Parts: sequence; C-alpha cells; structure tokens
Amino acid sequence: MTPKTMDSIAAELAGYDPQALSASMVSAFLSRLVTPVTQHETVGIFEALGRVLSHDVISPVSVPPHDNSAMDGYAFSGAQLASETPLILKVVGTALAGKAWAGLVKPGECVKIMTGAVMPQGLDTVVPQELVNHRAEDPAQTDVIVVATGLLQTGDNRRQLGEDLRQGQPALQKGALLTPAALGLIASLGLEKINVWRKLRVAYFSTGDEILSLGEAPREGAVYDSNRYTVFGLLTRLGCEVIDMGVVRDEPALLEAAFIRAAAQADAIITSGGVSVGEADYTKAMMKKLGGDAGGVAFWRIAMRPGRPMAVGRILKEISEKNASNSAVLFGLPGNPVAVMVTFLAFVRPALLQMMGSTAAPAPLLKARSSEAIRKKPGRTEYQRGTVSTAPDGSLRVKTTGNQGSGVLSSMVQANGLIVLHHNQGNVTLGDEVDVMMFEGVI
Ligand code: AMP
Ligand code: MG
Repeated sequence: MTPKTMDSIAAELAGYDPQALSASMVSAFLSRLVTPVTQHETVGIFEALGRVLSHDVISPVSVPPHDNSAMDGYAFSGAQLASETPLILKVVGTALAGKAWAGLVKPGECVKIMTGAVMPQGLDTVVPQELVNHRAEDPAQTDVIVVATGLLQTGDNRRQLGEDLRQGQPALQKGALLTPAALGLIASLGLEKINVWRKLRVAYFSTGDEILSLGEAPREGAVYDSNRYTVFGLLTRLGCEVIDMGVVRDEPALLEAAFIRAAAQADAIITSGGVSVGEADYTKAMMKKLGGDAGGVAFWRIAMRPGRPMAVGRILKEISEKNASNSAVLFGLPGNPVAVMVTFLAFVRPALLQMMGSTAAPAPLLKARSSEAIRKKPGRTEYQRGTVSTAPDGSLRVKTTGNQGSGVLSSMVQANGLIVLHHNQGNVTLGDEVDVMMFEGVI
C-alpha cells in the first residue's frame, strides 16, 4: 500500500480551515496518512507479549483434545436419567487426569472421575461428588451411588472436545495485539514460536532553548525536560522500539540535522515544542525542504484543549527522494507537558497502533456521572484530567483533578482517566453523564 502524500491529504483538507480542525477530523486524516509496517519476524512466546500478529494462528489441534470432566464426581451415560426413580449406579473404576479409564461401562454402572480426566467411552454426563448419596452406611465404601431425580441433564459437567478451539480454525487473527490471555491460548496449541510484525521504531526529541536535560545545572528561566520521559513511557508501553534523541535547541541548522537523523532511523518521529505560531515559521520552511514533493508537513490548529497546535506529515528519508513510501511520519506535538500526553493519547497512539499492524478497535469510552459542574464551550474538544471512582450505588462518578493548566503535569499523575468533552458539547451540570477515557493499561 502506498502511503498518502501530504499533498493528497492537503487536497482532502481543502474546504476545511486548517486553523480550526476538529479532533475527529484530525483522527480521520491521520488514519489515512499512516500505513502499517510490512516486515515480519518469528519470535518465541516469551518475546511475543504486546506484539502484533502478522498471520492468523491456525489451530493445529483441538482444545481440549478429548471430552473430559469439568468436576470431581462420577461419569455415567445420561440416557438413564429419563427414569422417574433415583438412579443407582455401581462404581466400576476410576478415571484420573492424565490416566484414563479404558474399560467399558454398562448401564447401571459409573466411573469415579476427576476434573480434567478423559470421559470413558460411551459416557457423557458427570454427577459432582457432593450431589450423590452413598449406598453403604460407611462412606469409605463408595462402590454404589444414588443420584436423585431432577438433578441433572445429559451432558452436564462434561467439557467437549474442541469446545475452546477446533483443529484447522483460526485461533487468533492477524492484527491481534498479543495479551497475556493470547499467550496462554498460543501455548495451549503447543506453539512455541509466533509470527509478528516487526517493532515500530520511533525517534523522539524535545525542542527549546529553555529545556534542560537531566544532569544539567539549573539556570535562570530554564526548565527540566519532562516530555521526553513521558513520551518514552508512552512509547515503551505501546511496545515500540524507542530512539531517544535528546533536547534540540531552537536553531534551524540543529533542528534540520535532528530531523534528518531521525527520519533516517525511524518509522515515526515525535517532537515536542516549536509548533506554536511564534515558533512555527522557521520550522515550516525547513519542513518544506525536508518533506520534498512527495512528503510535506502541515501545521494545524486543532479545535481542542489542551493541545491546539500540531504539525503532522512525512519527512523523506533522503531529501533527493520523491517516494512517499520512503519517509517517516512526523508528529510535531505542542510543548506543554499535558498537551503532549493528551495529543499522544488522542491522535498519536491510535496512528502508531495502526502502523504497528494492530486491527484492535479502540477501547470504548466509559460513562461516569460528573461530581461537579464543568464549564465547556461548544466548538472544541476538551480533555480534562479526572479521577473516576465507584459511587455507593455501584455507578461510576468522576471528578476533575483541580488545576487543568496544560503545563500542570501533576494533574495527569493524580488522574486515572481523561474526561472527554466532545466538540459540540456545552456546559456540564452536576450529575450529568460524561465520557471518560481510562488510563489503565494505556499510560
Ligand atoms: P512551545 O510549544 O515550544 O512554545 O512550549 C510551550 C511550553 O511548554 C513552554 O512553557 C515550554 O517551556 C514548555 N515545554 C516545551 N517543551 C518542554 C519539555 N520538553 N519539558 C517541559 N516543558 C516543556
Ligand atoms: Mg519552544
């Protein structure tokens, strides 16, 4: 698949005001801009966690491989349950997990069976041991059992061959993100290795003359870089191969060199800072050069809060190239630390997942009742930091985490989710239901 060039994206954008794009428009354009990686590799099951399947996994066996008991009890033929009187069965043997009972069982007979043991031939029903009475006064003499009427139906407490997976059927589909449950499923098929898309390589750097790297002495007017660390964490959680390129000063020559180096090594580049109106001009000129004809970078102002300015596009791996396939995708995020995280979650993360080959649907937003009134202007999407908790009646409620300034990173640490106030939504009154995007498993 040939990636869309920014020119064709720009053509699609004609008619929209790039100074006021809605968040949903940006998501839609990004999903058309990026393309999935095409190389795959084979990895051992322990390296497969968090990776994306590049091929369907076809089950080479049925799981379970035989009918077996779901309970400790007694196996018998369910046809005998039709009778009106309690069933009296003689215990003729024992079936253990991993040690089947090989004999034939006649009507009026049963086999003591343990959970997971193979069902003896011809038997289809298990009565749990706690539901039977023993004929003998002495419970040690368990050779005859009584099953009361109306307790069971044919097939009860039997797990059927292939009820989890059928031989020859896809057990997992291409594009699946491998979770702990998926690893277990793969192992249950006896597979030690699995085909996955190669890891996405993402280079990132922070920009700004005022940004200090850790280890540098504090100086007047300077702040320590936080964005590189949140971006590192977000990318690592996503399973990307990260390339940390440090802090780059607001100097066109240095920035240009950094972009060229990043594009050469990575599938995607994430920068923070330098895209606001005052700073964007020289970045724009440089991007025009680095993006070439087939690439290009657009500077957008998104109708959202936080995270208004953003630069998006492609940077060619070699400036002389005209081929958009040979380019890295650029996500130029705003500088403010909360805006970086919000734009990452809203736009970059879904686009990177697509590049990783994942076909997973985004996690659904949850509904929670707002514990307070929230002022909100229609015409932009707002992401407020929230703490979601369970109300006494069991429903979810959410409260904002105080100061919502786009530089207040402590609000992200306190929050366990984002309250998403949609584009057309207005003020929220106390008790209104709002959408929340939970952080769990994401950040
Ligand atoms: P900018 O978008 O470059 O104008 O930056 C907006 C604000 O975010 C400024 O207050 C910057 O100091 C701050 N900022 C930019 N980059 C970083 C960073 N890497 N770490 C912490 N704060 C930053
Ligand atoms: Mg800056």
